Amino acid sequence: MVAGEWSSDGPRADRVGPWTRAVVSTARQADDRDVETALRYARHGATAVARMSPAARAGVLERAAAQALARRDELARLLALELGKPVKDGRGEIDRVSDTFAVSAAEARRIGGEVLPVAGWARGVGDTALTHRAPVGVALAITPFNAPANLLAHKLAASFAAGNTTIVKPPPQAPASSAAVVRLLLDAGMPPEAVQVLHGGGAVGAALSAAPEVGVISFTGSPATGAAVARSAGAKRLVMELGGNAATIVCEDADIAAAARICAATGYSNSGQSCISVQRVYVHRSRYEEFLDAFTPAVGRLTVGDPLDAATDVGSMVDDDAAERVVSWVREAAAAGATITIGGRRDGATVIPTVVASPPPDARLVREEVFGAAVAVRPFDDFDDVLATCNDSRYGLQAGLFTHDVRRIVTAWRELEVGGLIVNGSSNHRLDHVPFGGVKDSGFGRESPRWMIDDYTVVKTLMLRGI
Ligand code: NAD
Repeated sequence: MVAGEWSSDGPRADRVGPWTRAVVSTARQADDRDVETALRYARHGATAVARMSPAARAGVLERAAAQALARRDELARLLALELGKPVKDGRGEIDRVSDTFAVSAAEARRIGGEVLPVAGWARGVGDTALTHRAPVGVALAITPFNAPANLLAHKLAASFAAGNTTIVKPPPQAPASSAAVVRLLLDAGMPPEAVQVLHGGGAVGAALSAAPEVGVISFTGSPATGAAVARSAGAKRLVMELGGNAATIVCEDADIAAAARICAATGYSNSGQSCISVQRVYVHRSRYEEFLDAFTPAVGRLTVGDPLDAATDVGSMVDDDAAERVVSWVREAAAAGATITIGGRRDGATVIPTVVASPPPDARLVREEVFGAAVAVRPFDDFDDVLATCNDSRYGLQAGLFTHDVRRIVTAWRELEVGGLIVNGSSNHRLDHVPFGGVKDSGFGRESPRWMIDDYTVVKTLMLRGI
């Protein structure tokens, strides 16, 4: 949607669903003129959106939150068709879209400022100084395929809550799901100048990233693309949510049955295509066999198949190439001495949930981001050593820790190089009102409306001399 119009003229791209193998959606591809028009319109609309009261912006977001719930099944179906995401996961994602809108509404009402204590220093005596948070102007939101609804909701809702206009560049794999989230907001009363949607590939994203009209870029995707965005962006303000190879530690005092059940449920949801999906599980050697004996059958009980079936736990991956990459990494680990306790193959774009026991530490399955339905399990002997092993990664997004030992919990919280630690849960847990983000190659900035509003606004000072 550019300048208030969902245009259908011009070049279009079809999305073929990875499960149905049929065209499930089609989107008008933005050209240079669209990019130019969107930038002009977004820049032009910025004053009007900034002048909307926080109460009015919050009202739009609250109505959209209610609409998301009312349209949950329809939107979950779109996610299943475009991505192969099971409707169970899709409904969960749309519930989170609703939460994200509602939290953004609450945060829109809380944006404020400070009266600064300037008279505490001799040169400030007699003056009054205040700050408020002003919108940046135009925000650019670039989103990935794996959670296209909620990640778009985060970026667009927080940007609107802050009083900006936003240009959205959705992933080519989920144009209809992404557009549906934008429609929720438009139907709830978001003015058309507050959002432009430009479908297309990397070239569209790169052109937008380089544009001087854009004041802040919120990017979620792979580290390589994030680096390309940063190169195009130059000195713009950036928020980067990048990849991960999240670790979960299971200590000797853990409830092994619970750890196995939780890792099975959260290692394969959305076929492991989550930046915090359980990828590496480190289990204390004294409980290693017991964990594998509980984990492998729990993984085997996952229902694999048609993403449109409400009983399905694991659908297809985004495409055949992604599934083939995951399986080839599993084969590579097995050739280097690992044991595949279950899975290890694919059926089309569906990776059969796979457990790989004791892969070598330098296997790609351990060191790189697998982003698929394969989990590596390795034993450890010493807690300090396992923290160092977890940290021996270019990534640092989130970690899980199963223990009841408060000393270990605090040590891990202090020493793990991650943006968040989940205790008695796996790495794959996120609440949308809690700060979320990474360190190292997992990026910087914290995504969650309250923290994003800081990135989407600038502190503006008012100095009253002699008052
Ligand atoms: P991707 O990097 O391939 O694409 C992300 C987006 O960037 C897409 O919209 C794409 O079209 C666009 N893009 C591509 N080239 C560009 C360029 N040169 N300039 C501007 N935009 C460009 O990522 P993906 O495969 O869609 O998503 C998977 C990745 O996203 C994984 O690495 C995953 O960990 C990461 N991710 C991170 C988080 C997080 O919060 N940290 C959340 C979800 C996904």
